[in-house]
Amino acid sequence: MTSGLGLLFVVSGPSGAGKDTLVEAMRERRASLRYSVSATTRPARADEREGEHYFFVGRSEFDRLREGGRLLEWREYNGNLYGTPRDYVEGCLAQGYDVVMKPEVNGALAVKTAYPDAVLIFLVPDRFSNLRERLLARRTETNEEIVRRLEIAQDEMKFIRRFDYLVVNEQGRPEQAVVDLEAIFAAERFRIHRYPDDSIQRVESS
Ligand code: 5GP
Repeated sequence: MTSGLGLLFVVSGPSGAGKDTLVEAMRERRASLRYSVSATTRPARADEREGEHYFFVGRSEFDRLREGGRLLEWREYNGNLYGTPRDYVEGCLAQGYDVVMKPEVNGALAVKTAYPDAVLIFLVPDRFSNLRERLLARRTETNEEIVRRLEIAQDEMKFIRRFDYLVVNEQGRPEQAVVDLEAIFAAERFRIHRYPDDSIQRVESS
């Protein structure tokens, strides 16, 4: 007994917190979970594929999407633009599929403004210094980019209290964070306000 509409899960937090790995793990666990692929003007990294990791677009194409209202939210991050395609997310939710996305923190807050029903999850490492180690280990950014990402991360941490949930991704124990995310995804479906009123009335009068 549910509303039939999908739920929108927004997994955010600073770069290097482990969003990619944990969202990937959630997708493996929940076959019906739909992942919103973002558009970005950032050049593709060697292991990234078009339409799977991102839709890689030029600045003018991004502007066209933005000006045409095709992005649910968008932000500039470290000199590049990132945005969430609106049609895909709204289409999935209307069909009853849960959707997960992983924008940076300001984008997550913008999603909450547009969709107050969205579930905002802030993912952090157990120690801030782990962010640097993880960013260094993945070898996808230059040293200057890592410095900049850590500066942005400091700022992003100030917004934790605006989120619905906080999940700590402990170093070396990502499976615990997956269990925690799983608990949130499962519990959200049972919140009273997600049930249609007539089904609550039926329970009341049964
Ligand atoms: P990266 O360059 O590491 O792939 O992403 C940089 C930051 O942009 C990450 O924090 C990532 O979560 C965020 N990001 C990815 N897609 C989107 C999006 O569609 N909107 C927003 N606001 N941020 C995004």
